[in-house]
Amino acid sequence: MPIRELVSRDLHRMMLGGSELQYVLVRRRGRRGVALKVDENGLMVSAPATMPVSRIEGYVRESERWVTRKIGEWSARRVPEATFTEGSLLPYLGNSIVLRVEPAARNHAELVGVELLAGVRHGSAEESVKRTVIAWYKRVAQAHLAQRLTALALAAGLAPPRFLLSSAMGRWGSCNSRREVRLAWRLLKARRELIDYVICHELAHLRHMNHSPAFWAEVERQCPDYRALRAELFATDHLYRAF
Ligand SMILES: [Zn+2]
Repeated sequence: MPIRELVSRDLHRMMLGGSELQYVLVRRRGRRGVALKVDENGLMVSAPATMPVSRIEGYVRESERWVTRKIGEWSARRVPEATFTEGSLLPYLGNSIVLRVEPAARNHAELVGVELLAGVRHGSAEESVKRTVIAWYKRVAQAHLAQRLTALALAAGLAPPRFLLSSAMGRWGSCNSRREVRLAWRLLKARRELIDYVICHELAHLRHMNHSPAFWAEVERQCPDYRALRAELFATDHLYRAF
């Protein structure tokens, strides 16, 4: 199959079956038909470079039943249950690391290669292994997020704002007019590009305290691929809520 040149990749919204549907529209030069795909990232529509959006969305409407059923199937996926025992897989910067549990004089954890060595006091319950692991996530997130926040602020021509680590479950980041940026430690589970997008988003709020076109233009300046990253974060959000 020839590789068709990518023209654009944008996030769109349309009404389908009485509710708002967010989808990613990928346009390629030389492409003839419209193709629909639904997976864990939601609906992706591949279309020719210049076909009007109204016509593309006409195709989506023709497949309304299929699209609605597929999206329903994917969203029914439950938040995976996390375990904190020997050999458990844990998400870390978009990859998996393996939990190794070993007896120790005090509770601590350390990443060695792809193994998270968790030392816990003899006879510790899974709950205390979990606490030890989460304390490790928070410690590493504190360092990683602070470093990226400073680097991306300087790249954007901003004085680095004050950084606070957050334990929010449903919110990746926030900022306020006192130039304080809060970032969730759970971001450490996501791949680096997603983390950087969230940081760029909050940094753009230091210039625009709203979600105006000027705000999104600022996000795009610092993070050109933000539309796809935002769609990915939105679609995979449930995976980060296991713990
Ligand atoms: Zn925002």
